[in-house]
Amino acid sequence: MTITATCHCGGTRIELPDAPTHATQCTCTYCTKSGGLWAYYDVGSPRIVSETHGAVYSPTTPLHEHHFCARCGCTTYGTSPDYSLEDTEIPERRKFAVNAKLLDDYALFRALKVEEIDGRNLW
Ligand SMILES: [Zn+2]
Repeated sequence: MTITATCHCGGTRIELPDAPTHATQCTCTYCTKSGGLWAYYDVGSPRIVSETHGAVYSPTTPLHEHHFCARCGCTTYGTSPDYSLEDTEIPERRKFAVNAKLLDDYALFRALKVEEIDGRNLW
């Protein structure tokens, strides 16, 4: 079964390599205000099937790229440095975060174990 995440209007559709079991709720101002709930994958692992009306917002280019649908307004995915793996100021390795709220299978969404990270105070 293909695991998919789709924005409300269907313009952005992402196929995931496997079902997420965990998601991260970040307390930073962007994540709080945009409603992102992040399921992390390796960059290139999820497949972006379509991104009609895709747009990018980034107050910290190129560190964090926040993708959203300019038609329906859904926060869709983002890329950011993978701070969990490297002990440097700004790691070169990046991670890909899918907004788990876009999961088409609501049962998968409800089963997620959500971890909060304090992005509001960590960066
Ligand atoms: Zn949309």
